[in-house]
Amino acid sequence: MLRLQVAHVWLCRSPGIIVDNMNTTYKPRIWSDPLTHSKRMKHAARKRVASALKRGALIKLPCEFADCVDHETEAHHPDYDRPLDVLWLCRDHHLELHRQA
Ligand SMILES: [Zn+2]
Ligand SMILES: [Zn+2]
Repeated sequence: MLRLQVAHVWLCRSPGIIVDNMNTTYKPRIWSDPLTHSKRMKHAARKRVASALKRGALIKLPCEFADCVDHETEAHHPDYDRPLDVLWLCRDHHLELHRQA
C-alpha cells in the first residue's frame, strides 16, 4: 500500500517524464550525450582562451616541443574544466597529440 502511494505521488509530480520515457526515440536534451557535453566544454574553453588572449591575461607561447621550428601555435586543453590551463602547440604537434590520445 505504501509503495503504491509513493508511485502515485511520483507519477503525479512527473507526468512529462513518464510520457517521454514511453517514446523510444526520446532523449533527454541536457547532459545525456557525453559527446555533446564535451563539444560544449570545448567550445566554451576556446572562447575563454580567445578572450583571455585579447585581454592580455594569457600569452601565446612557442610550441611545447623544444626542437619545434613552427611558432604559430594554438591552445591545447588537457582539461576543459580548466579553460585557461593550456598547452601551446603548433598545428602539427597539436594534431599529433590528438592522434595519440
Ligand atoms: Zn588539443
Ligand atoms: Zn610544434
